[in-house]
This record gives sequence, C-alpha cells and structure tokens, in this order.
Amino acid sequence: SVPLAFFAGIGGASKRGIMIKGGKYIESVAKADCFVFDKTGTLTNGKIKVTKVTSYGEISENDILKYCATAEEYSAHPIAQAINQKAKLENVETLKADDYQEKAGNGVTAIIDGKNYTVGHIGLLSDEDKKKVTDDTSVFLLIDGKLVGGITVNDTIRTETPKVLKSLKELGAKDLVMLTGDNKKKAESVAKLTGITKLFSNLLPNEKVKHMEELKKSHKATVFVGDGINDAPVIALADCGVAMGLGSNAAIEASDAVLSDGTLKSLPTMVKTSRRIMNTIR
Ligand code: ADP
Ligand code: MG
Repeated sequence: SVPLAFFAGIGGASKRGIMIKGGKYIESVAKADCFVFDKTGTLTNGKIKVTKVTSYGEISENDILKYCATAEEYSAHPIAQAINQKAKLENVETLKADDYQEKAGNGVTAIIDGKNYTVGHIGLLSDEDKKKVTDDTSVFLLIDGKLVGGITVNDTIRTETPKVLKSLKELGAKDLVMLTGDNKKKAESVAKLTGITKLFSNLLPNEKVKHMEELKKSHKATVFVGDGINDAPVIALADCGVAMGLGSNAAIEASDAVLSDGTLKSLPTMVKTSRRIMNTIR
C-alpha cells in the first residue's frame, strides 16, 4: 500500500505550484544529486522577441522576415513564435508554401515557388558563410543552401534562475547540467551567469537523450527540467522529468512533475518537500 504521507505531501506541494504524479518521483527528487536543464525556455525566458534582422545583401530585411515567418508558420519553437510575432507587428504577410518541414532541434524548411527556404542554426552554413556572420545572430535564412539573412532574438535569462540554482547547490546537488541545441558561445554565457556547472551544447534531440543516459549512470538520481520543445524524450527518461507548466502539451504528458506557474521558482521547495515526506514515512 502507498503511505498516506505521499498524498499529504502532493496536496501541500500543489498549493505551492508543484504537481508530482506519484510517490516514486517524490523519492527520486528527494535523493537527486544531479539537476539537468534545457536552455531555451527553461533557464532562459520562453517569451523571446526578435531584436534584429540582418541582410547579407541579396534581399531586403522585410523579405527576410517574410520568408522566415512563412517557413516558421507551423513551428512551436520559441524562436518561431518570436519571428511570427515580429512579422505580424511589422504587417509582413506570410506566403503560402508548397511544403513545410521541421527538423527537430535544427530548424525548418519551406518550399516556395520551387525554391528551398531554410531557417535554422549555424551548423547549416558552409565554412565560407560562417566567416560572414556575427556571434549574436540566433538563426539564419538560406535560399537553396545560400546564406541570405539572419535573425537575432533576445534569449534572456529568467530572473529567478541564478537564485534557484544556488539553492539547489546548497541543498547538496553535485551537478547542475545544461543540455542545449544552441551554440557553445551562447551556452557558455548562460552557464556562467546562472551557476551551471557542466554544459553540453550543439546537441540534437537524440544526443540530449544519450547525455541523459550517461548522467543517470553516474548519479544516485536525476531530475530534468524542460519546456518540452525538442526535449520531451529527455523528460521521459529522467528519474523525475519536470515540465515547465506553460510549456508544450507533449512536455506535460511526458513529465512526472509540473512547475505549474511556468517558472523555476518552486524547484527548491519541491526538493525540500520531497525530503520532508521521505523522512516522515521512514
Ligand atoms: P534548446 O536546447 O536550447 O532549448 P533547441 O534544441 O530547441 O534549443 O534548438 C537548438 C537550435 O536549433 C536553436 O538555437 C536554433 O538555432 C535551431 N532551431 C531549432 N528549432 C528551430 C526552428 N523552428 N526555427 C529555427 N531554428 C531552430
Ligand atoms: Mg528548449
């Protein structure tokens, strides 16, 4: 039978913005010595905005926004939403593409009038094109494989992130890890500003899974926190997978716990509450 203390704890915790699916996960959180985070939308703010549109000469900034918004029309990625919001704001109308594809953790491609429009990360560029671009550019537009534009977004750190990570450290966490699909430079700057102790960048969704498997082997218990965009498989794999409450439905379905206010604030409380419950029933 399941000790009643589990349910009391779940009830109490839910008032503080935490929902845990069961006693097994309370136990995992209580003994977790490794906390793993996704970057975009988790350590950083999900509500990102476009701050700059860059043209590399061929087409206007307006057209860059138009093609990017068209290709991103059906993507749930925070960058896609920022691009579409900017297009609306600037009254830039999207086109009707013949085909839309998303490569998780990479970018999107649309076929417009027989041409291939790809929006995605720096890894898609040729070595020659990589020399032309600046560090602050978040995603690039390629037409038939040729670099034509870039878009910069403000991926700002959540105000609570440094404090939350400090609390987890004080609670005895050995490793505070970041798994991100974003570039090394961006990842390093976020790690430095937040207190992340280990980082893995430029990861594809399946590589995030591989790292999580390794981290599980070398720790007593792991907690992963993500917004579900490209990380639902890792949420499912962690000893306790935590979804940001305002993230995607896929994340909430795959998760063992939810931070229902959509911030990281109640994470230390979740650890303390879980430990109190485990002590009560021992
Ligand atoms: P994170 O792990 O930081 O949450 P993701 O794995 O979601 O990041 O994405 C990694 C990178 O892949 C992004 O920084 C971006 O460059 C690119 N990317 C992913 N999805 C898209 C998209 N829909 N549009 C443009 N770029 C994308
Ligand atoms: Mg993410």
